[in-house]
Amino acid sequence: MSASEEKFTRQTLLDVQPLTPSLFTLRTTRDAGFRFRAGQFARLGVTKADGSTVWRAYSMVSSPFDEFLEFFSIVVPGGEFTSELSRLEVGDTLMVDRQAFGYLTLDRFVDGRDLWLLSTGTGVAPFLSILQDFEVWEKFERIILVYSVREARELAYQALIDGLADRDYLAEHAHKLQFIPIVTREPHPGALNGRITLLLENGELERAAGVDMTAEHSRVMLCGNPQMIEDTRNLLKAREMRLSLSRRPGQVAVENYW
Ligand SMILES: Cc1cc2nc3c(=O)[nH]c(=O)nc-3n(C[C@H](O)[C@H](O)[C@H](O)COP(=O)(O)OP(=O)(O)OC[C@H]3O[C@@H](n4cnc5c(N)ncnc54)[C@H](O)[C@@H]3O)c2cc1C
Repeated sequence: MSASEEKFTRQTLLDVQPLTPSLFTLRTTRDAGFRFRAGQFARLGVTKADGSTVWRAYSMVSSPFDEFLEFFSIVVPGGEFTSELSRLEVGDTLMVDRQAFGYLTLDRFVDGRDLWLLSTGTGVAPFLSILQDFEVWEKFERIILVYSVREARELAYQALIDGLADRDYLAEHAHKLQFIPIVTREPHPGALNGRITLLLENGELERAAGVDMTAEHSRVMLCGNPQMIEDTRNLLKAREMRLSLSRRPGQVAVENYW
């Protein structure tokens, strides 16, 4: 099979940055034909020592307009994929499926005033892509990014988040963003402490955001830990907020990472 007929392209690693022993960011070249919507994921492939290939889903952190692809990865101890991925160095290649996938995209919502982006760990990735794309800033009056980690050192992309306000194309909208970090296992200045579900139940999250989460005005995206997503969806159901489907628009969109 010729390279152009393969289902994937080979991209070169441009940068790898460890954040903690179990978290790192990576940047690769991008095939000119690889198109995606902010919030979608790529399928990445690595070759194992025995010559077989392992594929896993990875949300893009980078925006659809960037010339490179950026990803944010966990290292699962003994994990089939991440054991290989975390060994790669600048100049090595990574396979990227030609197609992008996923429905954690703004077109899930036909209306809404406030957009809540609720993430745990690497689940912040698609929201960073969405925030670097222009559409969200035009579509919503308020955007509340909630990013929950266990320890403060796991908070990635703080410079990117802080820097959004300085981007020319966002300057007039930057006041719309509210960033609420959550650190669950230690006190941290400026961060809430406690699980997302607890902070929703006791009202702390909405107090911090200065706005209520309601079916009328709020649209909610959830990404990361499947337990957080299930528990939060149950809390939202009690507020008459449901998954948004093509045949029945709703208030909630989710992406489970495992
Ligand atoms: C749509 C989608 C998008 C994804 N995007 C990302 C991403 O942007 N970044 C990323 O790091 N992973 C992402 N994942 C998870 C990723 O596909 C792999 O599961 C991860 O790379 C681990 O692969 P593995 O083979 O090493 O371990 P696996 O055998 O796949 O996973 C083993 C266990 O590790 C835990 N685990 C897996 N992924 C994570 C994670 N991200 N954070 C915490 N614990 C985890 C779970 O308990 C899982 O059962 C995504 C998954 C899906 C379905």
